[in-house]
Amino acid sequence: MKIVRVVDLSHPVTAETQVYPGDPVPHLEQHSTIERDGFNLMSISMGSQSGTHVDAPYHFDNDTKRIDEVALDLFIGAATVLDCGDLAAREAVTIESLGAQLDKVQRGDIVLFKTRWSRFYGTVEYFNNPYLDAKLVSLLLDRGVLTFGLDAINIDETPDDTHEGVGFPAHHLIAKAGGVICENLTNLDAIDFERPMVSILPMKFIGIDGAPVRAVALQVEQ
Ligand SMILES: [Zn+2]
Repeated sequence: MKIVRVVDLSHPVTAETQVYPGDPVPHLEQHSTIERDGFNLMSISMGSQSGTHVDAPYHFDNDTKRIDEVALDLFIGAATVLDCGDLAAREAVTIESLGAQLDKVQRGDIVLFKTRWSRFYGTVEYFNNPYLDAKLVSLLLDRGVLTFGLDAINIDETPDDTHEGVGFPAHHLIAKAGGVICENLTNLDAIDFERPMVSILPMKFIGIDGAPVRAVALQVEQ
């Protein structure tokens, strides 16, 4: 097996990283310097789900797996990218809108939903993200998918003053099934080949809800 290309699917982590409303903003501070200490080293604080990250089931259910308890094979493997087409603000991605593309999905796949909402990253429009319809999530869970990723801030609709009570149905369904969600992916357009190998391995924090990832898609030749 040979890796022909590595596609970076991650947003930069800086003080400017756009976070979910109310979440902590990354803070990076020089802790040691070559001039003073002989080496460079940073102190970093950030939300567990700031930037490109994965959610463990524990994010929405106290009685399920924390990020360190999830089997690692959910975070690495063959992926199917589903093109969600030209979506409007807060539009649902549905079984009907994906149509025959769903036939490509194989049991155990990492499924990446290309909503193209990453083009609004850094603007308020990023919070008016499209989302996955609950029936679509249930269908994929039934077909053996446990890893869902998308290029938007939230797999569910993001609540605000005029969209209160939208809830987190996709998060709850996936948590209940023991699955994981990767949010804030970017650059999905650069995956112009079929069946990429995808890695979204989280940092090994213990007992928490999620973790930042460096998400990549690999083009491999057998
Ligand atoms: Zn989430």
